[in-house]
Amino acid sequence: MKALDELTFDNRFARLGDAFSTHVLPDPLDEPRLVVASDAAMALLDLDPAVAQTPVFAELFSGHKLWEAAEPRAMVYSGHQFGGYSPQLGDGRGLLLGEVYNAAGEHWDLHLKGAGMTPYSRMGDGRAVLRSSIREFLASEALHALGIPSSRALCVIGSSTPVWREKQERGAMVLRLAPSHIRFGHFEYFYYTKKHEQQAELAEHVLNLHYPECREQPEPYLAMFREIVERNAEMIAKWQAYGFCHGVMNTDNMSILGITFDFGPFAFLDDFDAHFICNHSDHEGRYSFSNQVPIGQWNLSALAQALTPFISVDALKEALGLYLPLYQAHYLDLMRRRLGLTTAEEDDHKLVERLLALMQNSGVDYTLFFRRLGDESAALAVARLRDDFVDMAGFDTWADLYKARVARDGAYSEEQRRARMHAVNPLYILRNYLAQNAIAAAEAGDYSEVQRLHEVLTKPFEEQAGMEQYAQRPPDWGKHLEISCSS
Ligand code: AMP
Ligand code: MG
Repeated sequence: MKALDELTFDNRFARLGDAFSTHVLPDPLDEPRLVVASDAAMALLDLDPAVAQTPVFAELFSGHKLWEAAEPRAMVYSGHQFGGYSPQLGDGRGLLLGEVYNAAGEHWDLHLKGAGMTPYSRMGDGRAVLRSSIREFLASEALHALGIPSSRALCVIGSSTPVWREKQERGAMVLRLAPSHIRFGHFEYFYYTKKHEQQAELAEHVLNLHYPECREQPEPYLAMFREIVERNAEMIAKWQAYGFCHGVMNTDNMSILGITFDFGPFAFLDDFDAHFICNHSDHEGRYSFSNQVPIGQWNLSALAQALTPFISVDALKEALGLYLPLYQAHYLDLMRRRLGLTTAEEDDHKLVERLLALMQNSGVDYTLFFRRLGDESAALAVARLRDDFVDMAGFDTWADLYKARVARDGAYSEEQRRARMHAVNPLYILRNYLAQNAIAAAEAGDYSEVQRLHEVLTKPFEEQAGMEQYAQRPPDWGKHLEISCSS
C-alpha cells in the first residue's frame, strides 16, 4: 500500500511533446470536499483506501495541489460528431495529470475532468457539474463490476464553485483512470491536418505501449487495427446484452482500447425498447439503443480512414468485415448465458430475437426479466413472468420453445440453474432514477446516498441484505427522465 505522495509517474504521452498536448495547470475549485471514492480504483494505484478521507486527497483531485512529477496536459484530438467532422476538439475541460504505474507494472492515466479552461475549451467554461461527475463515477465503476470494459473512476470531489448550466449548479471534478486516453479522434486529427510525421509517432506510441503483441505480426499496424475491431465488437455486444445505451458515440468518445469512454447522457434500459434514445439532443436517434451496433462499425470505418497511410484499403476493409460476425458471436454467447443455456444450437438467435420482439412495447423490465427467469425452474419462472407481457399467447409459444430448449440443454438442479444464471444476470443496475435520487441528495449536501448506491453497484450479481429498494423498477417519475448533453 502506498501513501499519496508515493505514486510513481512515468508521463509517456506528455513526452510526445507540444504537437500532441499543451501544458495547462488545473484551476482549483473552492472548498473541495470528497463526495465519493472507489476502493477498487484506489487499489489500481496501490493506494490505501483510508487516504481518501485525508484533506490532501481532496486538494489533489480538485486542482489545489499537484505532485512534482505530474505533468498536466490538455490533449488535442478531433472527431466525427453526429456524423459530421469537427476538425478541432481536445480536452476542453479535462487534463491528463500524468501516468502512474503500479506494483503490478500497469500504467494508469490520471485524468482530471472539470479542471478548468484549456486551449480546447471553445465556448465552454472548462468545468463539470456535480451531477454529471457523479453520473460518470457511478457508471464507470458499475460497468466494470458488470464485466463491461470501461474507463474507471477514482473519486468525485465537490465544491462551492458556482457553474452555470440551465441553472446555477456547483462545480466538481472526477478523477478518471484508464490505461490510455487516446481516442479514435486522435488519429483523425493528425490524418486530416496532414501532420504525417506526428501521425506516425502516434501510431508507434499506441502500438508499442498498448498493442505490443502486434509487433510480432507480419503487419503490426494491421494486427493492431484488427484487435481494435475485435475489442469494440466485444464491448458493444456487452452493451447490447446488458441494455446499456452510451448516448454520444462520436469518434472523439471512442477509446483506442475498446473500453466504454466519456459518459454523458447514458442510460441502462428499464423497460426493454430497442429504439430507446437516451440522449435528449439526439433528435434523429442516431445513437438509439439498436443503432449502437451499426454505429460501432461506422466509427471503426472512420478510424480506418485515418489509418490509410499505414494500412492498405483492402486490408482495412477485410478487418472491418470482422466486426459484425464477431459482434454477433459475442452477443449470442452472452444472451445464451443470460437465458441459462450452456450449449449452443443453430436456432438460438431466433429464441433471443423472439423474446425481444415480445418485450418490445410490453413494458417488461429488461434486467429483472432475466434475473427472475433464473430464480426457479424454467417452467415455474415462465409461468410467473407471462403476466408482464401484452401478447400472452405469443409469450406462451415462446415459453414452450424455451422450456424444450432448456430440457435439451441438460439436466441441472434448480439450484445449479439459479447459481449459473444469477452470476450473469444482475439484480442491481445503474437505473437513471437511482442516480437521480443520489444526485438530488448530493446537491443538498448529503453524499451518503451516492456512496451507498456505488457500494451496491460494485456487487451487481449478489443479493444484498436490506438493499431491496435498489432492485426496483422505476416509479412513474423515474421512467422517462430526460438527460441532456449539458454537463
Ligand atoms: P463531450 O460531449 O463531453 O464528449 O465533449 C465534446 C467536446 O466538448 C470535448 O472536446 C470537450 O472537452 C468539450 N467540452 C465539453 N464540455 C465542456 C466545457 N464545459 N468546457 C469546455 N469544453 C467542454
Ligand atoms: Mg468527449
